[in-house]
Amino acid sequence: MAFLDNFGKKMSQVAQTAMEKSKDLAENAKLNLAIAAEEREIEKAYKQMGEWYFNNYGDNCDPSQAETTAKIKASLAKIEELRAQLDAEDGTPAAEKTGKTCPTCGEKVEEDSKFCPACGAQLQK
Ligand SMILES: [Zn+2]
Repeated sequence: MAFLDNFGKKMSQVAQTAMEKSKDLAENAKLNLAIAAEEREIEKAYKQMGEWYFNNYGDNCDPSQAETTAKIKASLAKIEELRAQLDAEDGTPAAEKTGKTCPTCGEKVEEDSKFCPACGAQLQK
């Protein structure tokens, strides 16, 4: 009987330990999620701070930031260049895209086109 008692005790100890371990794991997962959430908040704030700095001091920044602001400026210039290519490829200058839109699909269309280039709907004059 003593053997069975001990066996029972050992088993419940094992179960207890396993339960505590899984509780620890769940607790750790919760804590890690909370840490990750705070880290995201910091990243958001850093990004805001960086944007503010670039907008206010991009042209007159601390020398230690010159390389980073130059990178941003290069990327902004590249984006402008790529957007110009997009406009050139669909044959519609950006300025003309703001006026008329297709009543069927909402695509911006050139003022004088008879059909929507996106959905083919006939356009009123
Ligand atoms: Zn359309």
